[in-house]
Amino acid sequence: MGEKSLIERVRRRARDGAAVVTGIGDDCAVLRVPAGHQLLVTTDFTLENVHFRREWHPPEVVGWRCLTRGLSDIAAMGGEPRAAFLSMALERVIPQKWVNRFLAGLLEAAEEFRVPLAGGDTAQSAGGIQADIVLVGSVPKGTAVLRSGARPGDGIYVTGELGGSAAAIARLREGRVRAADYERHFHPVARVEVGRWLRRRGLASAMIDVSDGLSTDLEHICEESGVGAEIEVAAIPRARVGRPARQVGFDLALHGGEDYELLFASARKIPAKLAGVRVTRIGRIARGPGMVLIEAGGRRRRLLARGWEHFKGDS
Ligand code: ADP
Ligand code: MG
Repeated sequence: MGEKSLIERVRRRARDGAAVVTGIGDDCAVLRVPAGHQLLVTTDFTLENVHFRREWHPPEVVGWRCLTRGLSDIAAMGGEPRAAFLSMALERVIPQKWVNRFLAGLLEAAEEFRVPLAGGDTAQSAGGIQADIVLVGSVPKGTAVLRSGARPGDGIYVTGELGGSAAAIARLREGRVRAADYERHFHPVARVEVGRWLRRRGLASAMIDVSDGLSTDLEHICEESGVGAEIEVAAIPRARVGRPARQVGFDLALHGGEDYELLFASARKIPAKLAGVRVTRIGRIARGPGMVLIEAGGRRRRLLARGWEHFKGDS
């Protein structure tokens, strides 16, 4: 498929959105910035054999997850997604059907979150499939929820359940899986609503999305905020996956990545459910330094960041 016909195809399927003055078809997109807002910009790779495998992931899933990575970063700032940009490099042998289905998955997520695809770039790759998603969002001036605001004494909260996505990868290595039994891996929903809710009420002192794993992402908050953290193992909400459904082990919940849940700190009491999503208190911000894991019996041990590293190293 030629570059031009692919862009035409994308253009026909992409919707306009309130923020887009001029979308696909010109040298640049022209975006409208809401009065009194600041822009958020994030960019994330989706690389074949790093973030997905063609034999494991249907193209729609790859497309959906590609946009979700960007949406999740916007959610973690408490932002409103405004426009998306997709750069794709495709090896010549990639079937047109694969690309169509990838776009369908990506545009389904775009539709669901009402974010227009406003541009991108298309090129031939020397091998495989590489996509890069750029999300532009916005927040009222000065209200973006940063990683750096956590203070000793704040509670530590997480949305949803953890470890479900990593559990799918572990299972995929052994054979086929039913996507419906691993919802959070094949169809993660970015927590944009929750992020927005927390930002509006000024409830989160620091926030991040769990893309690399709880231990690694919590460490980012600790480092940026200059604090430590205490996590109660038993409190961590563990995903239920497989058939019959079973809870994932503590290791996957602590270190497994790509759940796209929100992890945040707050000095205030947080409802058990936000925007229909379960929220769990899993510990507290401490003076530090470092992270501590409190086991069920009360024993304390050091928590080290060893988040998920995709399928690094294997062939
Ligand atoms: P240029 O040569 O100026 O970079 P292109 O021919 O690459 O222009 O792109 C033409 C238009 O199509 C631009 O609006 C660009 O943003 C859009 N576009 C190109 N590739 C994609 C893509 N994969 N997804 C969405 N829009 C795209
Ligand atoms: Mg271009």
